[in-house]
Amino acid sequence: MSAIGFIGLGVMGAPMARHLLKAGHDVTGFDVSTPAVEAFAADGGRPAASVADAVRSADVVITMLPNHPQVEEVAAQVLPALPPDTLFVDMSSIRPETSVRLAAEGAATGVRVLDAPVSGGQTGAQQATLSIMVGGDEATFAAARPLLEVLGTPRHVGGAGAGQVVKAANQLVVAGIYALVSEAIVLLEGSNVGAKAGLDVLAGGLAASRILDLKRESMLAREFTPGFRIDLHHKDMAIALDAARNADVALPVTGLVAQLVAAARALGHGSLDHSALLKVTETLSGREA
Ligand code: NAD
Repeated sequence: MSAIGFIGLGVMGAPMARHLLKAGHDVTGFDVSTPAVEAFAADGGRPAASVADAVRSADVVITMLPNHPQVEEVAAQVLPALPPDTLFVDMSSIRPETSVRLAAEGAATGVRVLDAPVSGGQTGAQQATLSIMVGGDEATFAAARPLLEVLGTPRHVGGAGAGQVVKAANQLVVAGIYALVSEAIVLLEGSNVGAKAGLDVLAGGLAASRILDLKRESMLAREFTPGFRIDLHHKDMAIALDAARNADVALPVTGLVAQLVAAARALGHGSLDHSALLKVTETLSGREA
């Protein structure tokens, strides 16, 4: 059993922290949102009044925060204070360079740092079926693996920051597929061809994808309750383009899709599910509902 300080009890963090509790770990949770901490306490977790309070007797610290500024703020408080050998596992989706820097800062005091972003969404967090991409050294991964297996399927993909690069690749593929499924829908509807039948055919052929499987019905119904918000995907597209710049590679399609995601935000759809990219394609075609 581990003593875990869990920081960030939002859409993803709350169900993840609860799974760790259910698995018998001693979990202390903190979030800047008091209702989130109260809900965690109502489920049997230990509530913390501050980041410092959450990690005081932890041998593992897990963060599940929106973006790198929040992770950096929490890490700045936590890393210098943790005893050597403590595990610090950041499961947020952030830019790889921050993960690399935190791993180096941890190494200076003996704190073992991993980046371990996830894919699978809120359902994956609730059902503990997350796909977890882990960057860091092999021995640290081996130490964290039993805990990560409580939350889904962890896979070690390389050194510090590698998990974030894999997550960025995941996010650019997901957004690209949403953009193209949106174009298929607009083409079918604009041609007065049955969109439902058309997408059913696509889902059975080479164009098949999990997005078509899971989302075609809700997209055709214009049901955009998140899920994963456009605002967060906008953040992830910036991470992907930034990572491409650092790697000296060109990702022209990602650049274009990032602009479509930015347009979705600019049109006021930031709090909708990322499948609402369809609304941008409709707007460009003069076909908004
Ligand atoms: P969220 O906004 O629901 O949760 C983040 C939580 O962090 C919030 O409860 C917020 O109050 C808290 N927080 C912010 N700053 C804090 C601080 N300084 N100290 C303590 N708590 C703080 O976001 P989420 O959907 O849970 O996503 C978390 C991360 O996981 C993001 O990086 C996101 O990109 C990634 N992610 C989300 C999904 C998804 O489907 N929602 C899927 C995969 C990955």
